Amino acid sequence: MTALELLAKYYGYRSFRPGQKEIIDAVCAGRDAVVLMPTGGGKSLCYQLPALMMEGCALVVSPLIALMEDQTAALLADGIPAAAIHSGRNEADNRSAIDAALRGKMKLLYISPERLLSDIDSWLSRLKVNLVAIDEAHCISQWGHDFRPVYTQLSVIKDRFPGVPVMALTATADRLTRDDIATQLRLHEPLRWIGSFDRPNLSLTVRTSSTKKERVRTIETLIRTYPNDAGIVYTLSRVGAEEMDQALRTLGFRSCVYHAGLSAAARAEAQRRFTNGDVQVVCATIAFGMGIDKSNIRWVVHNNLPGNIESYYQEIGRAGRDGLPARTVLFYNMQDLIMRRKFNEESGRPAIAEEKLAWMQRYAEADICRRRVLLSYFGEVLEHDCGNCDVCLDPPSRFDGTILVQKACSAVIRCNSQIGMFILIDVLRGSARAEIRNHGYDRIRTYGAGRDLSSQQWAAYITQMIQLGIMEIAFDNDNRLRVTDYGMRVVRGQATVELALYRAPEPQRKRKTAERKAVAPVDPTTQLLEQLKAIRKEIAAREGIPSYVVFSDASLLDMAKRRPTTPVEFQQVHGVGERKGVRYGKRFIGAIRKFEGMSASMPKGATYKETLILHNAGVPLGEIASIKGVTTGTVLGHIAKLVDEDMITDFSRYISRSQYETICRTYSEDPDKAYYTLKETMDPGIIMLGRSIYEYHRRKNKSSNG
Ligand code: ADP
Ligand code: ZN
Repeated sequence: MTALELLAKYYGYRSFRPGQKEIIDAVCAGRDAVVLMPTGGGKSLCYQLPALMMEGCALVVSPLIALMEDQTAALLADGIPAAAIHSGRNEADNRSAIDAALRGKMKLLYISPERLLSDIDSWLSRLKVNLVAIDEAHCISQWGHDFRPVYTQLSVIKDRFPGVPVMALTATADRLTRDDIATQLRLHEPLRWIGSFDRPNLSLTVRTSSTKKERVRTIETLIRTYPNDAGIVYTLSRVGAEEMDQALRTLGFRSCVYHAGLSAAARAEAQRRFTNGDVQVVCATIAFGMGIDKSNIRWVVHNNLPGNIESYYQEIGRAGRDGLPARTVLFYNMQDLIMRRKFNEESGRPAIAEEKLAWMQRYAEADICRRRVLLSYFGEVLEHDCGNCDVCLDPPSRFDGTILVQKACSAVIRCNSQIGMFILIDVLRGSARAEIRNHGYDRIRTYGAGRDLSSQQWAAYITQMIQLGIMEIAFDNDNRLRVTDYGMRVVRGQATVELALYRAPEPQRKRKTAERKAVAPVDPTTQLLEQLKAIRKEIAAREGIPSYVVFSDASLLDMAKRRPTTPVEFQQVHGVGERKGVRYGKRFIGAIRKFEGMSASMPKGATYKETLILHNAGVPLGEIASIKGVTTGTVLGHIAKLVDEDMITDFSRYISRSQYETICRTYSEDPDKAYYTLKETMDPGIIMLGRSIYEYHRRKNKSSNG
């Protein structure tokens, strides 16, 4: 079968995404590959399809247990034999997966790097490996943002599996890291696929110096804009996550927290509630979201500044994976930057960390199209402004800020460069706090000279002054401010400065009771979609698998649009492969039929059609029965009927020659009693099938003779 046929058969997709075909072809031809695609780009298929196309089993090295589990669950649901081997599973399970693999019964084996390294000389040397895929490959590089020492030992793979193609996959690597991955794994002239990182459906917004209240309000607006979908708030600390969660719950939203301080069980529960749609928001520290394939995440908010673009990009990338519009908001302020600097100093690799933070800062402070800044980090050039970031949509208007600069700078100078940003603001606004008075700052000339502006406005303008190089922060000296030479020239009237006008965050939406009561009309597709989601949730709960393993949101949306009312139509839905189509089809088709005002029961012949689909897919008899939830006898009855209708002509796999001959003989001896005689030793389904085949041959002979 071709790659495209397999894609339709197992995954229910009709075409490849950019790069997938090229990568699959290269790997099947035995070539190594470095694959860089953004999250959601479709990396998994790049190794899953070659694994299916080649003899033997693929090894997939992954550091994330949750991800391995989800991937194997999804593969099994699609009818592809797969398992995961790692320390999180009990050893007996690991053992039986290994045995199955050694018997040639596995197509994909996910394995942790530790386990791969420890077992490489034992059973792994006896396994017929057709390719090795290394997921999260950036972990191998010192230059990456998530270096894991154990990954460096993966270079032995090339020695132990000579001639086997090795693929390195990552969603996050700058150029240096990319090159380093290929070198360290000793890849041989690999195909390098650098997918586009542009995700035009994600809107990008940065808000500077927002208060807590404003942040909550922004999130509230997002939740209300997408009441049936979900969002993530990333915070730096546990406390931050808990505070935000509390604030949102107080407003009546369904929210939960996710951070390292929770037990593993509590974390799994939070993740489950999120994927099932029980909660609308997760307030999480960065640990959340790895491997979550939930396509209706409509927004991601960063309550704190991430340490590097790679992490930031991955985190916002969890929104809008279905390609529909999604929003991202980053809250940025100087305190976060200072905090990050401190982290970096303690990081063990301060120079690299500092370099990466500087890029993050460049993004947050950009006054040109943010997407251009973001993409340029990954070495990609966007030749036009994106039109979907805050800078593009609402370019900052500028004003002559010379006087503001003069006020701020002279206050710093008069306080002998001993103050940080907060005190500076208090001095400018004439605060009577004890700390100000004790130092005599209330007696300097600029005390209270900036009363006309709010603290937030001042915070935003001072931030700009720092960005413009008018002031510096002495990070090594309590973050005190110092006026630069350039700043001095402005103070002396030798230079003027333009500042970007501060924009207050969106005012709170007035929620009049009338407005709240007015129910927006729901369009039928959305209505049906909600029903389909409920069915999916029920199935997922019954089978103990995540909802998206049943069907993705994109599949449900397509289903709600196409409204298939027969199994054959159902098979056309995006993401519906043969097995899942038959296994779950009935429930969804029933609901759709009802929705369309038809009788909920399937049309006549539908169940035969299902059997035909699975028969054509080459699914064995026992499996057809278990997918459909009926006995093998019933399935054989269907096959017989399909033979009667000339829909099936290759039936040899259901009945042996000797069974068939016995049936023919018995019928020719005594047609009336034959069925009862045969029933003593044979499944009624086989007898029916034998009869149908007998008739089939007669029909054929007749038509060829006459
Ligand atoms: P990544 O590993 O790059 O983050 P995945 O491999 O998990 O991305 O793919 C993201 C989503 O896109 C999955 O739901 C996957 O089934 C879907 N997908 C992948 N390839 C295709 C395709 N050719 N057509 C439609 N959907 C696809
Ligand atoms: Zn833009």
